[in-house]
Amino acid sequence: MRVIQPADLITAFCSKPERRRLYEGLAKATNIILTPASEGAWSTRTANGTRTITYTPTDHPEACLAHELLHIQLQENGYRCYLTAVSFAPKHDWVLFLLSKLDNELQHHKLYPAFLRLGFGPEHMYYDNDRDTYRLIQKDIARFTSDSPVEFFLSAYVPTIAPGGAGTTQDRLAIENQLRAKASTQTWKTLMAIRKVIMEYRDSNTLDAARTIARIMQLLGQYEPTWIGHTKRFPDDGIFIGNPFTMEEARRALAGT
Ligand SMILES: [Zn+2]
Repeated sequence: MRVIQPADLITAFCSKPERRRLYEGLAKATNIILTPASEGAWSTRTANGTRTITYTPTDHPEACLAHELLHIQLQENGYRCYLTAVSFAPKHDWVLFLLSKLDNELQHHKLYPAFLRLGFGPEHMYYDNDRDTYRLIQKDIARFTSDSPVEFFLSAYVPTIAPGGAGTTQDRLAIENQLRAKASTQTWKTLMAIRKVIMEYRDSNTLDAARTIARIMQLLGQYEPTWIGHTKRFPDDGIFIGNPFTMEEARRALAGT
Protein backbone atom coordinates (compact mmCIF):
# COMPACT_ATOMS: atom_id res chain seq x y z
CA MET A 1 0.00 0.00 0.00
CA ARG A 2 1.32 3.43 -0.88
CA VAL A 3 1.44 6.20 1.69
CA ILE A 4 -0.14 9.30 0.24
CA GLN A 5 1.06 12.89 0.07
CA PRO A 6 -2.07 14.87 -0.80
CA ALA A 7 -0.27 17.58 -2.78
CA ASP A 8 1.54 14.97 -4.92
CA LEU A 9 -1.65 13.04 -5.39
CA ILE A 10 -3.54 16.08 -6.65
CA THR A 11 -0.68 17.00 -8.99
CA ALA A 12 -0.62 13.48 -10.42
CA PHE A 13 -4.41 13.41 -10.65
CA CYS A 14 -4.50 16.73 -12.49
CA SER A 15 -1.93 15.63 -15.10
CA LYS A 16 -4.82 14.25 -17.16
CA PRO A 17 -6.97 17.06 -18.58
CA GLU A 18 -10.38 15.51 -17.88
CA ARG A 19 -9.37 14.71 -14.28
CA ARG A 20 -8.01 18.22 -13.82
CA ARG A 21 -11.31 19.68 -15.06
CA LEU A 22 -13.17 17.64 -12.45
CA TYR A 23 -10.87 18.59 -9.58
CA GLU A 24 -10.56 22.28 -10.46
CA GLY A 25 -14.28 22.65 -11.16
CA LEU A 26 -15.16 21.23 -7.76
CA ALA A 27 -12.41 23.09 -5.91
CA LYS A 28 -13.92 26.30 -7.30
CA ALA A 29 -17.48 25.36 -6.32
CA THR A 30 -16.81 23.98 -2.86
CA ASN A 31 -14.14 23.79 -0.18
CA ILE A 32 -12.32 20.43 -0.40
CA ILE A 33 -9.96 19.23 2.33
CA LEU A 34 -7.97 16.00 2.37
CA THR A 35 -7.28 14.48 5.75
CA PRO A 36 -5.40 11.24 6.57
CA ALA A 37 -6.55 8.15 8.47
CA SER A 38 -4.54 5.00 9.06
CA GLU A 39 -7.02 2.38 7.85
CA GLY A 40 -10.39 1.67 6.27
CA ALA A 41 -11.90 2.81 3.02
CA TRP A 42 -11.85 6.41 1.79
CA SER A 43 -14.87 8.53 2.66
CA THR A 44 -16.20 12.05 2.34
CA ARG A 45 -18.25 14.06 4.79
CA THR A 46 -19.77 17.48 4.42
CA ALA A 47 -20.08 19.98 7.25
CA ASN A 48 -20.64 23.74 7.07
CA GLY A 49 -19.99 23.80 3.34
CA THR A 50 -16.64 21.98 3.61
CA ARG A 51 -16.11 18.58 1.99
CA THR A 52 -13.59 16.55 3.90
CA ILE A 53 -12.14 13.55 2.09
CA THR A 54 -10.54 11.07 4.46
CA TYR A 55 -7.79 9.12 2.72
CA THR A 56 -6.04 5.92 3.77
CA PRO A 57 -3.13 3.95 2.30
CA THR A 58 -4.12 2.36 -0.99
CA ASP A 59 -2.59 0.91 -4.14
CA HIS A 60 -4.87 3.09 -6.28
CA PRO A 61 -4.99 6.58 -4.78
CA GLU A 62 -6.04 8.34 -7.99
CA ALA A 63 -9.02 6.03 -8.48
CA CYS A 64 -9.99 6.50 -4.83
CA LEU A 65 -9.74 10.27 -5.19
CA ALA A 66 -11.83 10.18 -8.37
CA HIS A 67 -14.48 8.10 -6.59
CA GLU A 68 -14.77 10.62 -3.75
CA LEU A 69 -14.70 13.63 -6.08
CA LEU A 70 -17.52 12.10 -8.13
CA HIS A 71 -19.63 11.70 -4.96
CA ILE A 72 -19.02 15.42 -4.33
CA GLN A 73 -19.84 16.30 -7.93
CA LEU A 74 -23.08 14.34 -7.79
CA GLN A 75 -24.11 16.20 -4.66
CA GLU A 76 -23.09 19.55 -6.16
CA ASN A 77 -25.27 18.66 -9.15
CA GLY A 78 -28.31 18.14 -6.95
CA TYR A 79 -28.14 14.63 -5.50
CA ARG A 80 -29.50 14.77 -1.96
CA CYS A 81 -28.43 12.41 0.77
CA TYR A 82 -31.57 11.13 2.51
CA LEU A 83 -29.97 10.10 5.77
CA THR A 84 -32.39 11.55 8.31
CA ALA A 85 -35.66 9.94 9.34
CA VAL A 86 -38.58 10.14 11.71
CA SER A 87 -40.44 6.87 11.94
CA PHE A 88 -42.85 5.01 14.13
CA ALA A 89 -43.30 2.20 11.63
CA PRO A 90 -42.97 -1.42 12.81
CA LYS A 91 -39.48 -1.46 11.24
CA HIS A 92 -38.39 1.97 12.52
CA ASP A 93 -35.18 0.43 13.90
CA TRP A 94 -34.13 -0.49 10.37
CA VAL A 95 -34.68 2.88 8.72
CA LEU A 96 -31.25 4.48 9.24
CA PHE A 97 -29.42 1.28 8.28
CA LEU A 98 -31.43 1.09 5.10
CA LEU A 99 -31.00 4.78 4.25
CA SER A 100 -27.21 4.73 4.56
CA LYS A 101 -26.97 1.53 2.51
CA LEU A 102 -29.20 2.88 -0.27
CA ASP A 103 -27.61 6.32 -0.27
CA ASN A 104 -24.21 4.88 -1.01
CA GLU A 105 -25.40 2.35 -3.60
CA LEU A 106 -27.65 4.77 -5.46
CA GLN A 107 -24.87 7.33 -5.76
CA HIS A 108 -22.53 4.67 -7.16
CA HIS A 109 -25.01 3.78 -9.89
CA LYS A 110 -25.18 7.44 -10.94
CA LEU A 111 -21.46 8.24 -10.82
CA TYR A 112 -20.06 5.07 -12.37
CA PRO A 113 -20.19 6.18 -16.05
CA ALA A 114 -18.21 9.33 -15.14
CA PHE A 115 -15.64 7.18 -13.27
CA LEU A 116 -15.04 5.16 -16.45
CA ARG A 117 -14.89 8.32 -18.57
CA LEU A 118 -12.02 9.54 -16.38
CA GLY A 119 -10.04 6.55 -17.64
CA PHE A 120 -10.21 4.23 -14.62
CA GLY A 121 -10.82 0.49 -14.85
CA PRO A 122 -14.07 -1.00 -13.47
CA GLU A 123 -12.07 -3.08 -10.95
CA HIS A 124 -10.78 0.09 -9.27
CA MET A 125 -14.21 1.58 -8.58
CA TYR A 126 -13.99 0.73 -4.87
CA TYR A 127 -11.30 0.72 -2.20
CA ASP A 128 -8.74 -2.13 -2.17
CA ASN A 129 -10.64 -4.19 0.42
CA ASP A 130 -13.40 -4.63 -2.15
CA ARG A 131 -11.73 -7.87 -3.19
CA ASP A 132 -12.70 -9.33 0.22
CA THR A 133 -16.31 -8.19 -0.09
CA TYR A 134 -17.62 -11.27 -1.82
CA ARG A 135 -15.98 -13.71 0.56
CA LEU A 136 -17.42 -11.83 3.54
CA ILE A 137 -20.89 -11.71 2.02
CA GLN A 138 -20.81 -15.47 1.43
CA LYS A 139 -19.94 -16.00 5.07
CA ASP A 140 -22.89 -13.79 6.05
CA ILE A 141 -25.32 -15.63 3.81
CA ALA A 142 -24.24 -18.96 5.28
CA ARG A 143 -25.77 -17.76 8.56
CA PHE A 144 -29.10 -16.65 7.02
CA THR A 145 -32.24 -18.74 7.26
CA SER A 146 -35.39 -18.33 5.16
CA ASP A 147 -36.82 -16.41 8.16
CA SER A 148 -33.96 -13.89 8.30
CA PRO A 149 -35.11 -10.28 7.76
CA VAL A 150 -35.45 -9.35 4.12
CA GLU A 151 -33.08 -6.42 4.89
CA PHE A 152 -30.27 -8.95 5.49
CA PHE A 153 -30.93 -10.45 2.09
CA LEU A 154 -31.04 -7.01 0.48
CA SER A 155 -27.78 -5.99 2.06
CA ALA A 156 -26.07 -9.12 0.70
CA TYR A 157 -27.73 -8.71 -2.68
CA VAL A 158 -26.98 -5.07 -3.56
CA PRO A 159 -23.21 -5.58 -4.00
CA THR A 160 -23.95 -8.14 -6.73
CA ILE A 161 -25.64 -5.43 -8.81
CA ALA A 162 -23.23 -2.63 -7.84
CA PRO A 163 -21.47 -1.00 -10.79
CA GLY A 164 -17.81 -1.99 -11.22
CA GLY A 165 -15.72 -3.54 -8.49
CA ALA A 166 -13.28 -6.36 -8.02
CA GLY A 167 -15.87 -9.15 -8.08
CA THR A 168 -16.11 -11.22 -11.23
CA THR A 169 -19.34 -12.27 -12.93
CA GLN A 170 -18.85 -15.70 -11.35
CA ASP A 171 -18.47 -14.17 -7.86
CA ARG A 172 -21.72 -12.29 -8.34
CA LEU A 173 -23.55 -15.30 -9.71
CA ALA A 174 -22.34 -17.47 -6.85
CA ILE A 175 -23.81 -15.01 -4.33
CA GLU A 176 -27.04 -14.70 -6.26
CA ASN A 177 -27.43 -18.48 -6.32
CA GLN A 178 -26.58 -18.81 -2.66
CA LEU A 179 -29.13 -16.11 -1.79
CA ARG A 180 -31.80 -17.58 -4.00
CA ALA A 181 -31.35 -20.97 -2.36
CA LYS A 182 -31.81 -19.45 1.11
CA ALA A 183 -34.54 -16.90 0.41
CA SER A 184 -38.27 -17.58 0.63
CA THR A 185 -40.18 -17.12 -2.63
CA GLN A 186 -41.53 -13.81 -1.30
CA THR A 187 -38.08 -12.51 -0.29
CA TRP A 188 -36.62 -13.34 -3.67
CA LYS A 189 -39.53 -11.65 -5.42
CA THR A 190 -38.95 -8.55 -3.28
CA LEU A 191 -35.24 -8.50 -4.17
CA MET A 192 -36.00 -8.74 -7.89
CA ALA A 193 -38.56 -5.93 -7.63
CA ILE A 194 -36.03 -3.75 -5.76
CA ARG A 195 -33.43 -4.51 -8.41
CA LYS A 196 -35.81 -3.14 -11.03
CA VAL A 197 -36.43 0.03 -9.01
CA ILE A 198 -32.67 0.63 -8.60
CA MET A 199 -32.06 0.12 -12.34
CA GLU A 200 -34.90 2.49 -13.20
CA TYR A 201 -33.30 5.11 -10.98
CA ARG A 202 -29.90 4.47 -12.58
CA ASP A 203 -31.34 4.92 -16.08
CA SER A 204 -33.52 7.93 -15.24
CA ASN A 205 -32.61 11.59 -15.69
CA THR A 206 -33.45 12.46 -12.11
CA LEU A 207 -30.88 12.66 -9.35
CA ASP A 208 -33.44 12.90 -6.54
CA ALA A 209 -33.60 9.47 -4.93
CA ALA A 210 -36.53 10.15 -2.58
CA ARG A 211 -39.13 8.35 -4.71
CA THR A 212 -36.76 5.44 -5.31
CA ILE A 213 -36.10 5.01 -1.59
CA ALA A 214 -39.83 5.26 -0.84
CA ARG A 215 -40.63 2.55 -3.39
CA ILE A 216 -37.95 0.28 -1.93
CA MET A 217 -39.36 0.76 1.58
CA GLN A 218 -42.83 -0.05 0.30
CA LEU A 219 -41.54 -3.21 -1.35
CA LEU A 220 -39.77 -4.27 1.85
CA GLY A 221 -42.96 -3.59 3.83
CA GLN A 222 -43.68 -2.34 7.35
CA TYR A 223 -41.98 1.03 6.88
CA GLU A 224 -45.14 3.12 7.15
CA PRO A 225 -45.40 5.71 8.49
CA THR A 226 -41.91 7.13 8.03
CA TRP A 227 -40.53 10.49 6.99
CA ILE A 228 -37.14 10.62 5.30
CA GLY A 229 -35.21 13.85 4.91
CA HIS A 230 -32.09 15.23 3.25
CA THR A 231 -31.80 17.71 6.12
CA LYS A 232 -33.32 17.72 9.61
CA ARG A 233 -35.98 20.24 8.54
CA PHE A 234 -39.13 18.22 9.19
CA PRO A 235 -41.33 17.98 7.18
CA ASP A 236 -40.18 20.45 4.48
CA ASP A 237 -36.92 18.80 3.40
CA GLY A 238 -38.19 15.28 2.94
CA ILE A 239 -41.07 13.02 2.02
CA PHE A 240 -43.46 10.73 3.86
CA ILE A 241 -43.75 7.03 3.24
CA GLY A 242 -47.35 6.26 4.14
CA ASN A 243 -49.63 8.83 5.73
CA PRO A 244 -48.17 12.20 6.75
CA PHE A 245 -47.89 12.88 10.49
CA THR A 246 -46.78 15.64 12.83
CA MET A 247 -43.72 15.50 15.05
CA GLU A 248 -46.06 15.43 18.04
CA GLU A 249 -47.83 12.33 16.67
CA ALA A 250 -44.47 10.66 16.12
CA ARG A 251 -43.38 11.50 19.68
CA ARG A 252 -46.59 10.14 21.16
CA ALA A 253 -46.41 6.94 19.10
CA LEU A 254 -42.78 6.32 20.01
CA ALA A 255 -43.51 6.93 23.69
CA GLY A 256 -46.31 4.37 23.43
CA THR A 257 -49.14 6.69 24.49
ZN1 LIG B 1 -18.64 5.57 -2.76
